[in-house]
Amino acid sequence: MSKTRRLEKSAKNLTKMMGMYYTYNKIQAKKGKYVVWIAIVVPIELLKGFDLVIAVPENHSAMCAAKKLGPTLAEVAESKGYSMDLCSYARIDMGSMFGKGKNSPIGGLPKPDLLISNTNNCSLLSKWFDVYHREYDIPHFILDVPFCYERQKEKDLHYIVNQYKDLIYLIEDLTDQKFDIEKVKEAIHQTNKAISQWKRFLSSAAHHPSGISAFDSFVHMAPYLSSHRGTPLIVNHFKLLADETEKRMEEGKFPVPEEKYRLLWDNIAPWHQLRPMSKKLAQLNANIIYATYTSCMGTIEGKLAQFPLDPSKPLFSLARIQNATVCPYGLELRFNAISKMIRRYDIDGVVFTSNFSCKPYSLMQLDLMRKTKKKFPSIPCVMINVDHADVRKYNEEQVFLKIEALLEQIDNSRQK
Ligand code: SF4
Repeated sequence: MSKTRRLEKSAKNLTKMMGMYYTYNKIQAKKGKYVVWIAIVVPIELLKGFDLVIAVPENHSAMCAAKKLGPTLAEVAESKGYSMDLCSYARIDMGSMFGKGKNSPIGGLPKPDLLISNTNNCSLLSKWFDVYHREYDIPHFILDVPFCYERQKEKDLHYIVNQYKDLIYLIEDLTDQKFDIEKVKEAIHQTNKAISQWKRFLSSAAHHPSGISAFDSFVHMAPYLSSHRGTPLIVNHFKLLADETEKRMEEGKFPVPEEKYRLLWDNIAPWHQLRPMSKKLAQLNANIIYATYTSCMGTIEGKLAQFPLDPSKPLFSLARIQNATVCPYGLELRFNAISKMIRRYDIDGVVFTSNFSCKPYSLMQLDLMRKTKKKFPSIPCVMINVDHADVRKYNEEQVFLKIEALLEQIDNSRQK
């Protein structure tokens, strides 16, 4: 029997949860519930203070790309004049919107009543959501979040909290609902529990061989970027994931049992390549065991440890963690994070992934690679080209040529 393992129970539960999320959203929207489309970093816990349908276009685009529908949908947006240089998430979801859900595996997201985007991930997001604003003629609230080059400044924290208050007033006004802060506190409590399970799951990468591959973490992050966040359902899911992983490890089942190369991935998941890439790597006894992309969930400023949210200070906690994702970080924060990952997870080589779509994630990677090479001369690094959701901009042969060269460098470095 093969010792290669799949997280079967967790995979089944994930399919069930995401199916529930998309179906429930559609049913509730049909019944007339107020629908909000948000960017992924907008704190879902805050919106739990209302009774809303919450849909996340970036999550929808990633799912379409994973199901190999990225180019079909992106071409619809491109035929309307949107450049191929724009982020593929934007092109895919706009393609779904223009086609009224045609070719989306879920028939598109339910029509929105309100849009909420943000500025700290990239400048494209608010322009992208502005397209929906014009198409649907609905309000668009833009959260302005300062970039993050060091510890968050007190004035920035207050600046974000004040915008949360504006957002609450706006939703109260638009929906005639009264904001319920107690529900937000409860959601924060659930998120704390969920993230501690997530961190337990990720920590299995420290084992030799690693108990997980980064591809597992890419797939299972989905419910955190949906309205399941802040509910007991996601706590249960992440607990199931961590339990199942640990049980499999006890049974001697690992993603790459003969693991020879432990790699770190820097950038968004290559959604259209999850299976082929992990399979091909496994044939080389290589595993991407950890990723900056999924490590940052529930953390602040490039730290690996969870940042515990304080349910007694809900708005401040949610503002404090507004910089959780990598895109708004400066070079030093990213470098510190990568350095810690290399040490803690005993990394043999780093795969920097220059992403044609996500310029903010990719822009400083050459500097980051240079710094990493200088600090860890025995850890080889490589830069590959990927587009996270547009397979037309991916060349498997070129990518694997570079990855195989990286593995050779690791072998050489071990012989020194
Ligand atoms: S460019 Fe990057 S940060 Fe901006 S929407 Fe696309 S993936 Fe997200």
